Amino acid sequence: MPTLEKVLIANRGEIALRILRACNELGIQTVAVHSQADRDLMHVRLASEAVCIGPAASTESYLNVPAIISAAEITNSTAIHPGYGFLAENADFADQVEKSGFVFVGPTADTIRQMGDKVSAIAAMKRAGVPTVPGSDGPLTDDNQRTLDIANRIGYPVIIKAAAGGGGRGMRVVHNEAVLLSSVQVTQSEAAAAFGSDVVYLEKFLQKPRHVEIQVLADGQGNAVHLGDRDCSLQRRHQKVMEEAPAPGIPDAIRSDVAESCVNACKELNYRGAGTFEFLYEDGGFFFIEMNTRIQVEHPVTEMISGIDIVKEQLSIASGKPLSLTQDDIQLTGHSFECRINAEDPQNFLPSPGTIKYFHAPGGPGIRVDSHIYGGYTVPPFYDSLIGKIISYGENRDIALRRMRQALDELIIEGIRTNTPLHRSLVQDKAFQTGGVSIHYLESKLED
Ligand code: ADP
Repeated sequence: MPTLEKVLIANRGEIALRILRACNELGIQTVAVHSQADRDLMHVRLASEAVCIGPAASTESYLNVPAIISAAEITNSTAIHPGYGFLAENADFADQVEKSGFVFVGPTADTIRQMGDKVSAIAAMKRAGVPTVPGSDGPLTDDNQRTLDIANRIGYPVIIKAAAGGGGRGMRVVHNEAVLLSSVQVTQSEAAAAFGSDVVYLEKFLQKPRHVEIQVLADGQGNAVHLGDRDCSLQRRHQKVMEEAPAPGIPDAIRSDVAESCVNACKELNYRGAGTFEFLYEDGGFFFIEMNTRIQVEHPVTEMISGIDIVKEQLSIASGKPLSLTQDDIQLTGHSFECRINAEDPQNFLPSPGTIKYFHAPGGPGIRVDSHIYGGYTVPPFYDSLIGKIISYGENRDIALRRMRQALDELIIEGIRTNTPLHRSLVQDKAFQTGGVSIHYLESKLED
């Protein structure tokens, strides 16, 4: 059973700092790997050791597998935590890490591979009793009549999706039979070019769904629990902007049924690590769309309502310990919101890198700030624009929202533009205050 003595953090920004904090709490040494553009990152300063793994471009640094493995070797690391994005859901990386003798903080490479292929992920979910979107039950074939029959059976509109797709790409909505077959062909060629596989499948296109997801923890030794749900419907271009836990207005019986089905799936898959089952929720029904086999940006809202440190649990599972929690130990109380603060223009959303001249973080009861920025820090232009997350907690949704409003008023970031004005207007928005808006709400509000 590996004791995690030293963890290499294969990531940057707020999540790298988040992982470092958890390691320090557990008395685990840390190795920060960073690009030449990231020498001034907060966690690089705080880590036990730091290794520069390449130039600014992420393909040459944070995605550079040989450089990361070498850094783990020269620092004598025990484990590698991939964070989110970059190599977090790259099965070949997980393989390499383990073959090189390090612990990968996450599921097995096989599980990542299975969940990374949406067709095999959906098949696994169906076997485990997780509700899925009505669809083709597997890839579309070159039998055109069969494709037409499937679409007629489930009813238009339908959506054609690439099995290997990701990041909101490789999808096409079809509204009527006349364009179905040509759309399938176009999606197949696009998928082949973008993802190296032309496998596509078809499912019902839900018109006004919410995005609701379930957080799980499992140890790969037969134990699994869920930590409730999150609503991440406020999105722009498939990017989540604000999240909350629990998802408001969902009947308890429906909520607990779907969560139980996810726990069941973890057991059937012999899942190991933290994971998220993503669903579309419409008219009282949950429909699985994909599973994320990693820590997510929005994990803090779940930590706030459960009191469980998900990153510490990831590290504990990676060290080979069985889950210390049973479902009965987990009490979800209160409500939490998270606002993602991005270095971007609040009007046109273009990135706004540059030097932060002044930074004041909000505080007070129920406020948590996960951010790597500080006054004088320069946000480089090479990476994702997320510079921090403001998280609020309250005994109920109203108090959590009031605290978030106050926190956003206190927040000062000078020198670069951020999307804080968007968050300030969202927390005053009537439909959002009521709760339960669909995944299209934010974009339609921005168009007004
Ligand atoms: P990706 O891996 O690219 O993120 P997902 O399967 O998670 O792909 O889908 C991304 C987004 O596309 C969803 O959040 C939702 O907005 C939309 N979408 C996907 N499938 C459907 C569907 N069946 N009906 C309606 N919208 C869908």
